[in-house]
Amino acid sequence: AQPRPEAGAAVKAADRAHVFHSWSAQELIDPPAVAGAEGSYFWDYDGRRFLDFSSGLVFTNIGYQHPKVVAAVQEQAGKLATFAPAFAVEARSEAARLIAERTPGDLDKIFFTNGGADAVEHAIRMARLHTGRPKVLSAYRSYHGGTQQAVNVTGDPRRWASDNGSAGVVHFWAPFLYRSRFYAETEEQECERALEHLETTIAFEGPSTVAAIILETIPGTAGIMVPPPGYLAGVRELCDKYGIVFVLDEVMAGFGRTGEWFAADLFNVVPDLMTFAKGVNSGYVPLGGVAISQRIAETFGKRAYPGGLTYSGHPLACAAAVATINVMAEEGVVENAARLGADVVGPALRELAERHPSVGEVRGVGMFWALELVKNRETREPLVPYNAAGEANAPMAAFGAAAKARGLWPFINMNRTHVVPPCNASEAELKEGLAALDAALSVADEHTE
Ligand code: PLP
Repeated sequence: AQPRPEAGAAVKAADRAHVFHSWSAQELIDPPAVAGAEGSYFWDYDGRRFLDFSSGLVFTNIGYQHPKVVAAVQEQAGKLATFAPAFAVEARSEAARLIAERTPGDLDKIFFTNGGADAVEHAIRMARLHTGRPKVLSAYRSYHGGTQQAVNVTGDPRRWASDNGSAGVVHFWAPFLYRSRFYAETEEQECERALEHLETTIAFEGPSTVAAIILETIPGTAGIMVPPPGYLAGVRELCDKYGIVFVLDEVMAGFGRTGEWFAADLFNVVPDLMTFAKGVNSGYVPLGGVAISQRIAETFGKRAYPGGLTYSGHPLACAAAVATINVMAEEGVVENAARLGADVVGPALRELAERHPSVGEVRGVGMFWALELVKNRETREPLVPYNAAGEANAPMAAFGAAAKARGLWPFINMNRTHVVPPCNASEAELKEGLAALDAALSVADEHTE
């Protein structure tokens, strides 16, 4: 693309004058102006092109501007651009069918929302109404969205400012061997002790007060901690034992990200409710939802579900979902994520870890990987402190700048960089990004001791 610096300056000026950005101190940010995007790349108005190893916010699972999805949205806009939720609409019916065919077990009813956070809100509401119980148990080191309940169940610093409305939310520790809360030395110990901790938490909270346990199948933003074998099955057992609704949040891990349609498939677990968004249509039009089990759907068979949205199952968003799911099936996108994750990304990241002292741990699956950056491999002290800002965060900022200078757009959260490219990225693109990552890690290495 030709550089168009004046056009970029105008986009930026209007942004700075009028756009209020998420999670930011408005006067301290400098949002880059994006001129266009295609496939795994985007570019700015100065002619700089970036390979997007963040998939936006981990949602462009089929990359930018996939021609079939763009055409499907255009076609739907020409046919029926919008319609109210209380009608049966072709695009909505078809999207629900395609999703329900892929969700695990008997999660065959789909409630559509506008995104992930409202999907979590509704899943929690359904669980509370289904059980008649008030509490929700969720994990530290998690993210479930920015609305009130979703941010309350979140286990990261974004929750703190909204904790005034967190009645009924109890946090527990999920397994994470590298930074074990359980003094565990093996995955088996971590799994066993994390389950024991969860059962004790349930006992002390009072099983008859707990409506739901919500977990990201694989926690995403919090660090891509793949749970040890048996953990999610163990949580499923505890939920059955105490009559608790098991909610899996697949907003980030779902729709091909892990090399399966849903991360739950990696562990052969079936939750009672499953939330999704992002990859369902690669974010081309906002869409999320809750997949609902037979049993919970029956609760609202003769009794009205007290919840809804003007745009539930918006035709444009659903047409984008239908096209995305069909593209993913036709082009083998899920298989691509599994194969290149196992054959290319995983081995390359492990090799980087051997050479770069700043890499404390590599973990992940499919197109869903995290590098834990540390000051010291022995002590595992993070490269920057938890929730660091400003000067304290300088080493991660330097790493990010080094990646961008090499044409790689990284995903960075606290002391981690996540490798989360589109699920249909090619081997050549992945190798290009991994080479840039290699160079950027040398900058992180300078901050080790
Ligand atoms: N749940 C998980 C696991 C997420 O990763 C996110 C967003 O990153 C959300 C929920 C919230 O989704 P949204 O930003 O679409 O509201």
